[in-house]
Amino acid sequence: MCRFRRSSLTPIVVLLFCTALAVAQGTKITAPKNNYKPADDVQIGREAAGEVSKELPLLPENGDADGYVRRVGGILAAAIPPEFQHSEFHYTFRVVNASDINAFALPGGPMFVNRGMIESARTEGEMAGVMAHEISHVALRHGTAQATKSQGAGVQLGAIGGAILGAIIGGNAGDIVSQGTQLGVGAYLLKYSREYETQADVLGSQILARAGYDPMDLARMFETIEKEGGSRGPEWLSSHPNPGNRQERIAQEARLLRVSSARRNQSAEFSQIQSSLRRMPPARTMAEIASNNTRPNSDSGSRYPDDARVGGRVEPPSNRYRTVQSDLFRMSVPENWRQLGDNASVTFAPDGAFGNQEGESVFTHGAMVGIVEASLSDLQTASDQYVSGILQGNNYLTAEGRYQQTRLGGRNALARRLSGTSRITNQREVVDVYTTMLNNRELFYVVQVAPANERRQYTNAFNTMLQSLRFLN
Ligand SMILES: [Zn+2]
Repeated sequence: MCRFRRSSLTPIVVLLFCTALAVAQGTKITAPKNNYKPADDVQIGREAAGEVSKELPLLPENGDADGYVRRVGGILAAAIPPEFQHSEFHYTFRVVNASDINAFALPGGPMFVNRGMIESARTEGEMAGVMAHEISHVALRHGTAQATKSQGAGVQLGAIGGAILGAIIGGNAGDIVSQGTQLGVGAYLLKYSREYETQADVLGSQILARAGYDPMDLARMFETIEKEGGSRGPEWLSSHPNPGNRQERIAQEARLLRVSSARRNQSAEFSQIQSSLRRMPPARTMAEIASNNTRPNSDSGSRYPDDARVGGRVEPPSNRYRTVQSDLFRMSVPENWRQLGDNASVTFAPDGAFGNQEGESVFTHGAMVGIVEASLSDLQTASDQYVSGILQGNNYLTAEGRYQQTRLGGRNALARRLSGTSRITNQREVVDVYTTMLNNRELFYVVQVAPANERRQYTNAFNTMLQSLRFLN
């Protein structure tokens, strides 16, 4: 059956339209020659996904953002035309806590979407557009097709995962994985030719339409990446070069397609996820993540490095301050404190005062800022729950006295002091917890930590942090 939308198509175009529909919804695509087995794609992708999960900061698997991206991804994967479904493939979706407007999919199905990509997309359809494009590379097996082109089936599959990771995070990241020719292998598994780009745009448009999205959302997302990208967007565009006339080709394809009537309209959920991501502490760039993975003591924000010597000599806080800013807040912190991020919080601490102990991130001097979800919107109850969590996780601490009313960034806030003998410094430690409610049952906190005998040296730094705090929306 040939149905077409009301339009002023010329007879010739109508004819093309009908022919195309008769073949497959839209332009017929032929997957490129490939000497590898689909099971090889799966093996390569699984290995690389393992490396990625170890080296990149991922948002929690059970968190709202991950769950949402997984649902959208599942709808798209189910909409892959049957001829490109591979029973061995398993499409999985994780969110990387990185600010670059980037996403990548590994052979066989594992996909990683950067937080920056979700924050930049103007609609769910735009986000889905990039995901459908990535899924298309996987379904058409472009990675191993490129390997086939370059070396027949001669590429050694073992240890390729690290090379792929190197290609993903680029730059110095090669240092943390196997170097040399393997890096080249990783690059050509993920940096696509213009011919493959067109294929992924066309199949991506088809998947979008089958899933109930406007295929033009893919074209619109490319505009967003180019426009908003600036210094944050070039990575995706360098791996997915514009074959020229990208937007026009997608528009041409869109005219051939009928959007499934099961059109998704999840704008409310998209906005909700987007604003909760924007309220999180700022994400690092992939380059910062890579350079930190290579040099654990680099100055850029980072996860807690494994070899940091917590309990070492600690310099007092600098009298000079720098301003840190996320979409949610702005704050001044001493210049000599590093910024250490994990998934939902950011810690500012001097050298010698942070590290890992028995698998836990710890710090002895400095401050941690972040957001937790509260089960109630009542500040007192939410603060109680949060403080109880700290006490349970740090059983050397006990609460001193009562909550004090205070202000934080112009909002009503509570303050509570905890103390106890630190197992790291063997000194009495003072922990001041400040909490205030944001909208949507989110509790914003600042936790300031210092040994009691050094606490006076920290008074200025801690007060400056609190007084400079501004919420930005
Ligand atoms: Zn691409």
